[in-house]
Amino acid sequence: MTTLTFDSLNPATGAIVGSHPKHTADAVHEAVGRAEQAAAWWAALAPAERRTRLLDYKAVLTQHLRELAGLVQEETGKPAGDAALEIVLAVNHLDWAARNAAKVLGRRRVSTGMIGVNLAATLEYLPLGVVAVIGPWNYPVFTPMGSIAYALAAGNAIVFKPSELTPGVGVRLAELFKESVPEQPVFQTVTGLGETGAALAADPRVRKVAFTGSTATAKRVMAACAENLTPLVAECGGKDAFIVDADADLQAAADACLWGAMSNAGQTCAGVERVYVVDSVYETFMRELSERVTKVKAGEDYGPITMPGQVDIIKRHIDDATKSGRVVTGGPDSVRGAYVDPVIVEDVPEDSPSVREETFGPTITVRRTRDAQEALELANASAYGLGGTIFARDRRRATELARMMRTGMTAINSVISFAGVPALPFGGVGDSGFGRIHGADGLREFARPKAISRQR
Ligand code: NAP
Repeated sequence: MTTLTFDSLNPATGAIVGSHPKHTADAVHEAVGRAEQAAAWWAALAPAERRTRLLDYKAVLTQHLRELAGLVQEETGKPAGDAALEIVLAVNHLDWAARNAAKVLGRRRVSTGMIGVNLAATLEYLPLGVVAVIGPWNYPVFTPMGSIAYALAAGNAIVFKPSELTPGVGVRLAELFKESVPEQPVFQTVTGLGETGAALAADPRVRKVAFTGSTATAKRVMAACAENLTPLVAECGGKDAFIVDADADLQAAADACLWGAMSNAGQTCAGVERVYVVDSVYETFMRELSERVTKVKAGEDYGPITMPGQVDIIKRHIDDATKSGRVVTGGPDSVRGAYVDPVIVEDVPEDSPSVREETFGPTITVRRTRDAQEALELANASAYGLGGTIFARDRRRATELARMMRTGMTAINSVISFAGVPALPFGGVGDSGFGRIHGADGLREFARPKAISRQR
């Protein structure tokens, strides 16, 4: 029987990068069957042995950094430095997960809180079995590794469905894992488009699905999971706000704003898309921002838009923003094929699609607000709630604003400084999804609490 294949393309040149099998539902179910056996074997290893194997895998990934970064570069179009950075960040997560799993998940005595009952109790976190990871194309190594590393460290086997746009590097991650764990298929990939992800999410032997992508697709994944009551962790992007308060360091704020909005061509789930600036510093901040943005160019500072359909969404949002707001930089002409130069528009009505919907491109809307409180209210009036930023010198006030921001993470005086931090949980609220990856919460996300009580 011949297996159908599909090609992955370099979005900058259109050249074919690789050809990959379109795994049918049957092939996916076979992979899950193999993973079930491998999961039992992996879970039975001593935690110290799993740690050794994962640290060995870390060393293997580090040895192959150039090769992996090259694949990321070809499949996404991003610059070499950005591609290498994402491998480094992924490896950091793997290291943290491997070193901390036993401490976070291991058995411990628990004080029961019962009065007058002589009960002893222990609590530990046991592996789930097979975990399905459905990954995105914007950070095709870093983002899925934020689930894969923690799920492996918690003792699970992985079936990974990389995005159809970036299958090559996903397949390579699993191939390299075999160098550290040759005995069993503890980490497999399935590739395809149209039916592969759905078949994986619907397999009743999958004990958890970790999905990263759009909110609309997350709802379909959740419907598939509902059939078997399979739990899901869903990371669905955002519309992150960037607040500049009256006492902010405006030069640092302008640098961070631009980097947070434009790096990776804005194709970052926690990228800056809405900027709210307090009235008293508005002009100065905009001057700083405008000066800096003239030096930023698509194709030099960042790569192309990886997903062809994404260009249409970005175009629609640029048209919407430039028609209803005041252009600071760029406009419809900023879209040059797959490349999009920076676009900044002021005073776009808050109910416009370009302010409400995720753009996933190098575009921002900026609004003047009376004070930080109004900025916070506007920031929070979004269906999304992934990350956000506050620039302010008064530490107490900044922390108060950060706490009141309706997001999973908020950075103060820096931008997106949470995603690469292994010890911090990553995830959002509302349309940004639910569940947490990274950190101790990320380890527990891929384990089941097991309570044992014993009458003394
Ligand atoms: P998407 O549609 O959200 O997700 C595509 C992935 O989901 C594919 O691997 C697909 O596999 C799988 N899938 C589709 N239906 C499924 C189902 N019912 N059950 C399980 N898996 C299913 O991603 P996209 O088209 O690449 O991007 C669309 C938008 O997502 C972008 O415009 C952007 O706004 C957002 N996005 C967000 C992030 C983030 O970091 N949160 C990253 C990338 C994109 P099959 O085709 O094999 O079913």
